[in-house]
Amino acid sequence: MPLFGIGKKQRQLACKDAGMVDCKAVFTGKSDADVLRQAGAHAEKVHNLKGSPEMTAKLTKLIKNA
Ligand SMILES: [Zn+2]
Repeated sequence: MPLFGIGKKQRQLACKDAGMVDCKAVFTGKSDADVLRQAGAHAEKVHNLKGSPEMTAKLTKLIKNA
């Protein structure tokens, strides 16, 4: 467990929950924004998807406590 996780809940998003069922990527961060930033960079690089307000809204709903 990294130090920054102490005393705080982590937020987590699995790429497969966003519809990429074959993708094993999981993003963990200390805030939704942190997770969204990682997911956005991943989606662009790996899935060739451009971020959009709709995608961000959809992903935000899928983020859960780790
Ligand atoms: Zn992915």
